[in-house]
Amino acid sequence: MDDVNDKKTALVTGANKGIGFAIAHALGTAGFAVAVGARDATRREEAVERLRADGIDAFGVALDVTSDDSVAMAAKTIEQTAGRLDVLVNNAGISGRTDGGAQIPSTVDLDVLRTVLDTNVFGVIRVTNAVLPLLRRAESPRIVNISSNMGSLALQTGPQLAAYAPSKSLLNSITAQYARELAGTDIIVNAACPGYVATDFTGFASPRTPDEGAAIALKLATLPDDGPRGGFFDDGGVVPW
Ligand code: NAP
Repeated sequence: MDDVNDKKTALVTGANKGIGFAIAHALGTAGFAVAVGARDATRREEAVERLRADGIDAFGVALDVTSDDSVAMAAKTIEQTAGRLDVLVNNAGISGRTDGGAQIPSTVDLDVLRTVLDTNVFGVIRVTNAVLPLLRRAESPRIVNISSNMGSLALQTGPQLAAYAPSKSLLNSITAQYARELAGTDIIVNAACPGYVATDFTGFASPRTPDEGAAIALKLATLPDDGPRGGFFDDGGVVPW
């Protein structure tokens, strides 16, 4: 690994596969040192090796976004390894079980709702707050929250998923709250929709590649200092809330 202290550093959560891996790859190709946040040691190290094989400056960070201890340790690891953090991409997410009407509103399983919120919303807050002190020290820090147009109350699109869709609506709202708090700082916060992408998450039921899904995250992670704040974007531009 190069001396990453000279390099802008990005943390991507859930970076071992799917869209998160593609975002890590895109940021690495763009010149960032990439902290590969992943909860499973084997999957994490395999992802780091695959990135390094493509010439990317990557290091693994043990990270389970549902664990306060893991998140606190991850922030320390980044500080010790890179000494800085310029970009945070909150990508880790789960859809939650759907069997037995678990995500039909009238039969919703509240444990599924809690589990999905713990990863997709509380996880984002845990990670963001743990690394904010590092981001505040950076010159042009950016936070990108990977949301979904399924969380759009205006669009109400996709299948009925009474845990997953509201988790992304709440994530969008939290994104706007962070943007308001950080309005007077250099930290730019936005939400991104990657589109319907072929990953484990969707059973690969889409022609859209993870690299295509990652493009909007790369764009928001590298916005100029006068870029938009507190918005929700996909490849086509603004997504209605
Ligand atoms: P994926 O292939 O299932 O990858 C999800 C990633 O999140 C994996 O690396 C997974 O790690 C990680 N993860 C899950 N829970 C975690 C936890 N508690 N701590 C740390 N990492 C955790 O899904 P994807 O399609 O790439 O989805 C990535 C993001 O895009 C999600 O936020 C999803 O909601 C969003 N999104 C996806 C689509 C789509 O069409 N695919 C559309 C809109 C939005 P493990 O390997 O350890 O499970």
